[in-house]
Amino acid sequence: MKRVKGVATNISYRETLDQENGHQSFLDFVNLLPLKAGNPEVQMEATPHVLGKWSKVFSNAPQGGTFEAFLDRHFPVKDFPQFRKYLAEGDPRFSLPTPVERWKWITSLNLSLRTWAGAHDIEDGELSPWAKNSGWKPEGICCVCGILFPRTRKDRKTCSEKCGTVHRQREWQKRKESGSTKRYGRARKLKQFKGGK
Ligand SMILES: [Zn+2]
Repeated sequence: MKRVKGVATNISYRETLDQENGHQSFLDFVNLLPLKAGNPEVQMEATPHVLGKWSKVFSNAPQGGTFEAFLDRHFPVKDFPQFRKYLAEGDPRFSLPTPVERWKWITSLNLSLRTWAGAHDIEDGELSPWAKNSGWKPEGICCVCGILFPRTRKDRKTCSEKCGTVHRQREWQKRKESGSTKRYGRARKLKQFKGGK
């Protein structure tokens, strides 16, 4: 029996909707980590706090200052209110007792998911362990704002309608600059024809 793609999608819509909501809310949590947290310098500064008493073993790790001071320097509450709230109060889904434990958890999740999402561009259809266990779609990295999103379609490159519009405008701009846009090419020819220089 031949299956019609669209029909099967409609039948399972309710089920997949719930799953995708779960995936989205999981990624909303993971995306609380500001992008700059992935910078090597920031990771380096976080090292002594992450290692705790073991940091003394690594003499190269920068010493001094509290974890709170490190956070205030890179992620002030006024600029990252939700992220700082998570570190201070935690998330009921994950029982982690201290801000440093919460930092370690969200950082490792975020950076691992990025590695998996980055691999999709090369090896298509590869699922992260989280997506595999939960029956989710693969994760993608938005080419406009850089956050993680559920790749509900294979060719989806952006996290939202808003970023999708920006992406399309940029693509159009690129084509326009290389002169391959039909409308632009025609306008240019017309200008030349009319004697515009
Ligand atoms: Zn985006």
